[in-house]
Amino acid sequence: MIFLLSVLSLLVCQAVLSPISNDAIFQYVDDHKDEFVQRLKDWVAVESDSSDPTKRDLVNNMMQITKDFILKLGGSVEMAEVGEQELQSGKKIPLPPVILAEIGNDTNKPTVCFYGHVDVQPANKADGWLTEPYTLVEKDGNLYGRGSSDDKGQVLALLHAVEAVNTIGLPVNVKFIIEGMEEVGSNGLDKLVEEKKDTFLSNVDYIVVTDTPWLSKKPGITYGARGNCYFFIEVQGARRDLHSGGFGGTVYEAMSDLIYLLDTLVDAKGHIRIPGIYDGVVPLTEKEIKLYKDLEFKLDELQADTGVTRFLHDTKEELLMYRWRYPSLSIHGIEGAFSGSGTKTVIPAKVIGKFSIRQVPNMNPSVVEKQVVDYLESKFSERKSPNKMKVSMIIGAKPWLADMNEPQYVAARKAVKRVFNTDADMIRAGGTIPIAKNFEEVLKKSVMLLGIGGPDDAPHGQNEKISMYNYIEGTKLYASFLQELASQKAP
Ligand SMILES: [Zn+2]
Repeated sequence: MIFLLSVLSLLVCQAVLSPISNDAIFQYVDDHKDEFVQRLKDWVAVESDSSDPTKRDLVNNMMQITKDFILKLGGSVEMAEVGEQELQSGKKIPLPPVILAEIGNDTNKPTVCFYGHVDVQPANKADGWLTEPYTLVEKDGNLYGRGSSDDKGQVLALLHAVEAVNTIGLPVNVKFIIEGMEEVGSNGLDKLVEEKKDTFLSNVDYIVVTDTPWLSKKPGITYGARGNCYFFIEVQGARRDLHSGGFGGTVYEAMSDLIYLLDTLVDAKGHIRIPGIYDGVVPLTEKEIKLYKDLEFKLDELQADTGVTRFLHDTKEELLMYRWRYPSLSIHGIEGAFSGSGTKTVIPAKVIGKFSIRQVPNMNPSVVEKQVVDYLESKFSERKSPNKMKVSMIIGAKPWLADMNEPQYVAARKAVKRVFNTDADMIRAGGTIPIAKNFEEVLKKSVMLLGIGGPDDAPHGQNEKISMYNYIEGTKLYASFLQELASQKAP
């Protein structure tokens, strides 16, 4: 009897952990491929464009469809109200509710919370789409349609993965935060996360964002993003605009002062001239260099795509490091400058120069602010102009960097290996991912971006698509991830 019991328990253990169960799940995904594509078709058909208030009903409709599907999967769903949106006209309309859902609440199992969104960017056939944007069309192994990649396709792949794994029982508790305002700035979400941190989110061990592309055709896991400090330099000369015929050669011009200041910020090779700016940057390690060497990324493809004749860096490693792990300074524009067509002989009275510095670990925005202000003030005083100059930091967003040795990263790497038989690219984002930073700061839990979008999906552009390969194998990736996560030691 004891012998029989131990054999039985061994079998049960194997059913949960062995590759056999993975095979059965993968088979389930393959068998249900047509159904999964059909569901994406249904979801893409809902024009849930969050930027257009007249389509708010459609976004709400999409939230309801998502809720119904999670209920069908056996989950419980709360539609959390997050307040109102004030339109330009002053009219207020309700924001779409945010879905807070869960499947399973076994205290012996880890809990992973996935974040995604089901609203989309605007899309019009007239903008250059080859197919109707809200009709999912399969062509040459790709599924074209608005939201196919960003983010309906990724949310559905995850939900289908949960469905597949649930056929043998979920080895982890799963929660979802799914919103309908991501494309316009996730209105109300930060507040909701803060409100729910001691209730719905209190037992969450890991947060996974399923809204991100890979760097290449190889699966990628995103573990960091740069922050951004945005500055205005305001230079005020005369009380009103002057005419160069009457005043050219007689006044200190605000625009000349501003252009001089902007030109002191960064040299031709992209090196930031502000003293101390690189002091906080985490030194490069041998281990990190190895990570960059292994990345699948082709410089010439980027060159062809952008039309840039020569980049600041010659190797893929350097280029990616300067995109992800070093700060950069970009000049964006001048408010108040004459920029129309034709000729105008104005001397602008007041101009505002705009630039930003991408932040990396361990730069501190308040330190950067002081460095920038001190530097520009000293440069301005050297110039001995009587004009008034003021520097202000408008945005101070911190960078985000996760520890890639956390259990969920280990699980994701194993899942990639199992499904794709290759090592995952460990990647970062050059832009900001406020949601990752916010989740990490509020919940103090490990955050990871595990998406299945391809590098050329054109998420916000015309002819958005997801490849059939990414959609279906991506479903298997999420399924494997859930299983691998269960076999990791608790955080
Ligand atoms: Zn998205």
